[in-house]
Amino acid sequence: MRFLITAGGTREYIDPVRFISNASSGKMGYALARAALKAGHKVTLITAPTALTPPTGAEVIPVESAAQMFKAVKKHFPKCDCLIMAAAVADYTPAHPAKTKLKKQAAKLPLELKPTPDILKWAGRHKKPGQILVGFALEDRDLRLHAERKLREKNLDMIIANTPGAIGADTSTLHVKTAKSGWVQINDASKTASAGRIIRMIETHCD
Ligand code: C5P
Repeated sequence: MRFLITAGGTREYIDPVRFISNASSGKMGYALARAALKAGHKVTLITAPTALTPPTGAEVIPVESAAQMFKAVKKHFPKCDCLIMAAAVADYTPAHPAKTKLKKQAAKLPLELKPTPDILKWAGRHKKPGQILVGFALEDRDLRLHAERKLREKNLDMIIANTPGAIGADTSTLHVKTAKSGWVQINDASKTASAGRIIRMIETHCD
């Protein structure tokens, strides 16, 4: 299969040197890329900045912002069999980024934000028969309820839900649901082990 995987937290620039982002480490997305490669698949990894070394054998496309990630996904999505959006895409970006470095002032500095494009929702609208879409949901309340809503609203084939404790950690508890089946819980497992299981679940889903 040809996998398209996104990873890391996007950077939304306020001026040329400052940005807003999130605590995503990219570990889950990179583990999924490695697991897919190990299983013999082709992998394109669209990655926001991380401290990790990209897996050898993957085509790596570095991006920074949600807008750049969207452009890269739109370009590569038509050729893939499965898109896994493991990236923590910023939901908002500065509406008027400054072209030059902002000077410190005594006054307050209001920052206006505008919504970013929902990449996964776009993919859900444009997927062709046979293409598999996998999304992540990070929820601190009513985890399965919110994740299941996302599965439906974004037209996904699989959703992987976790809690904020998973951010940056090497192990996590994941709740996985496909559009056709019930919830499967993977308890306190390394991201490497969970990634292997998720890739196998995706392969099975294709049969
Ligand atoms: O709705 P929410 O942002 O919580 O959904 C999370 C899922 O959607 C993740 O798979 C994330 O990669 C993806 N996403 C996206 N584009 C956004 C925000 C989230 O593709 N702008």
